[in-house]
Amino acid sequence: MLTTDSDQLYSTWELLEDEIRRCTRCPLYKSRRNPVPGEGNKNSSIMFVGEAPGATEDEMGRPFVGAAGKLLTMVMESYGMRREDVYITNVVKCRPPGNREPKDEEINACNIFLKSQILLLKPRIIVTLGNVAGKTIFSMANREWGGVMKMRGKKYTLQILGMQLHAIPTIHPAAALYNPQLRSIFENDMKLIKSVIDEIVSGAEEIRKEKSKSKTLLDYLK
Ligand code: SF4
Repeated sequence: MLTTDSDQLYSTWELLEDEIRRCTRCPLYKSRRNPVPGEGNKNSSIMFVGEAPGATEDEMGRPFVGAAGKLLTMVMESYGMRREDVYITNVVKCRPPGNREPKDEEINACNIFLKSQILLLKPRIIVTLGNVAGKTIFSMANREWGGVMKMRGKKYTLQILGMQLHAIPTIHPAAALYNPQLRSIFENDMKLIKSVIDEIVSGAEEIRKEKSKSKTLLDYLK
């Protein structure tokens, strides 16, 4: 777990987003234009976690809206997923200067927000985009991380914050933008992600429907 016990968790989305907007916990606040808390369906069972906002995200205060975000949206849609059905955020909520990789101390300082987002959303599936996101999520589960190219394209069962969930690491869409080989890897991983979503989320929905059917029958027999 990256954050310490003395860190305060945020119990509502409103409190959490307000705190991110005025956060000065790490030096990244000095160069940001806008913090990027995350966006999407806050009742979703699926969370996408990237590394950090880039220039367009910093300008607009929204995650994955630049070229890499457009690729992500396009590939998701090509496999029947809609961005508005999932929740998307990053490991750090402010842009590192020059799009450098966030430092460990910045990731640690920001982890309270990711932790709170996971607790509020209670996702059944976390898709990690890129090495930093995968490493951070696996570290929160006290699990070994072997690098994105080794770990990607598989489903893992993790325990995070007392919750059992599935993680599927893939590469960051920015890496797939101009490299056809990585683009093909990214697309294949997204295909797997869609099949896991169908299996887990739709399976849970069937169980819920069955339960509600049997309740109706029992009620009828009373
Ligand atoms: S990156 Fe996270 S910890 Fe650092 S200033 Fe932004 S919101 Fe705060």
